[in-house]
Amino acid sequence: MSSACKRILLKVSGEALAGDNSFGIEPPFLQGVAAQIADVARGGTQVAIVVGGGNIFRGMAGAADGTDRVTADLMGMLGTMINALALSNAISRQGIKSKPFSAATMPSVADTFTARDAKLALEEGFVVVLGGGTGNPFFTTDTAATLRAIELECDVVLKGTKVDGVYSADPMKDPSATRYSQISYDEVIGQNLKVMDTAAFALARDNSMPIIVYALDDAAGLAGVLEGRGRSTRVGKPVDDK
Ligand code: UDP
Repeated sequence: MSSACKRILLKVSGEALAGDNSFGIEPPFLQGVAAQIADVARGGTQVAIVVGGGNIFRGMAGAADGTDRVTADLMGMLGTMINALALSNAISRQGIKSKPFSAATMPSVADTFTARDAKLALEEGFVVVLGGGTGNPFFTTDTAATLRAIELECDVVLKGTKVDGVYSADPMKDPSATRYSQISYDEVIGQNLKVMDTAAFALARDNSMPIIVYALDDAAGLAGVLEGRGRSTRVGKPVDDK
């Protein structure tokens, strides 16, 4: 598949950077994620990344404790920016040019995201790391990943999770759950299979953006998943709907 993928959007959740801990950034995991990304970039694929912030702060949790939701989500978005700076720097240390962008204006921290500037950076060989989600409260970085993939004309969204694809039920709870090799947007939404939020899937469906769900710890690595090795589920248009 990699030869067909000129430009990908990778969603890196906060939990991927926290590793075995639930909070903060664990350097070995950060370096591990950066190394996998550098591998793909070295192969000639343009890589844009949207980072989450669940390892630092989630707006919903703040709101549950009494902070108003808009403020809590701003705090969450700032958390994603911390991760974006860390990941962009870790990618640079792998010898691959990388540039962070922020959805919110903070000139001394990072360039403000525009699709035009991010595309230019991708064409110049930078891995672009996009922090700040969509820049709006009440959204998630999964929706931001789909939105940016569409804006940047990526071929696919890659969403790494703890399991190796989309299952008929939660495989951690139901041993009889089976994995789909591919599934349509409407099936994922209709069956409420919670791999990404509904807004992300609906946006992907309406813009025909395929999503590949794979395991972050897949032995084949991100490059392997892109090449069709490794296990994953492709969420897209139904196969007979050309
Ligand atoms: N967030 C937001 N708008 C966005 C993206 C994120 O307000 O467009 C906030 C929200 O509070 C969320 C937090 O940032 O809880 C961290 O993002 P997310 O939960 O998506 O991170 P992940 O679960 O991927 O680590």
